[in-house]
Amino acid sequence: MPWRALTVTISLQNKTVLKKYNNKEVLTIGRYFRQKYGETIYKVPISIGGFTCPNIDGTVAKGGCTFCENDSFSPNIQEKKPSFKLNPRVNENPFLDMQLKQLQLQFEATKQRLENKFGTKKFIVYFQSFTNTYAPLETLKALYTKALSFDNVVGLSIGTRTDCMTDEILDFLEELNKDKEIWVEYGIQSFYDQTLEKINRGDDAYTMRKWIKKTKDRGLKVCGHLIYGLPDEDQEMMLESFNQTLALNIDSIKFHPLYVVKNTLLTKDYKKGNFIPITEELYIDTVVKSIKNLPENVSVQRVTAGIEDSSLLAPQWCKNKHVQVQNIRKALLKEGLKY
Ligand code: SF4
Repeated sequence: MPWRALTVTISLQNKTVLKKYNNKEVLTIGRYFRQKYGETIYKVPISIGGFTCPNIDGTVAKGGCTFCENDSFSPNIQEKKPSFKLNPRVNENPFLDMQLKQLQLQFEATKQRLENKFGTKKFIVYFQSFTNTYAPLETLKALYTKALSFDNVVGLSIGTRTDCMTDEILDFLEELNKDKEIWVEYGIQSFYDQTLEKINRGDDAYTMRKWIKKTKDRGLKVCGHLIYGLPDEDQEMMLESFNQTLALNIDSIKFHPLYVVKNTLLTKDYKKGNFIPITEELYIDTVVKSIKNLPENVSVQRVTAGIEDSSLLAPQWCKNKHVQVQNIRKALLKEGLKY
């Protein structure tokens, strides 16, 4: 396919700017880390047993987001999870020692694998599963401090919801950020409250804006997660959520298509014909339009997601993530962008 230069007019937050694309490299998170550290940095995903989410335990809602298969994130959790679940109101955490051990074991196993396979020498510890700030502050302090004490760890990335952030947690993260690189990953999904209600998100646009701004004001890095293909959202709405996310000066972004996993609330809507999954064509077109409008300093951490086992109900194009990424790469190249 011939490579070509392209000039694109972008309207962003009422400003019109002219950008020239000449097979420009998209700033992936890998490129961002290489530019900053001069070498490859890998994120090491961690799942700590005992963590849950206020949208599952009944604090803001029960059942979780309609697409969430609550206990499916990690088999490790299912094997080792304590019957006890944490929340910020718990006075004592009898599982802290076990959680610290679990953190160390998981980190060392993945680190070893990455070192052997890619020769990776530096890492970010990524607290990925469930809501990783939904616990007593002392538990969070112990886990984050331990993670940063491992050799060759340059920072943390903490996945959470905006309604589970507090000023006290931000105080602590701000301190950590003086010596290491601290990221907070917020699930945004959409900035439309009616959509958030439809997916039983238990969070709203006001709270998301408030805490993302507060997090940025502390000098922390923010990665926003968006889902394209949410119920009753058209492309204009998806791109509007994207623009509103950018307006908060985030540092990085992840895009996911909404797919239906068995044993979720979304399954019922899908089977009744009340939810029609996004097509691959529309998903790719929306992701490409988004990436074309990304400011140069915002990195991309993920362009799609998939699930390769029999738990996937629909759409079938989400089965193979590698094929999806190839298709997105091709579509970006047509626009003069190299992913
Ligand atoms: S916020 Fe995350 S963990 Fe909680 S229910 Fe939604 S998808 Fe599941």
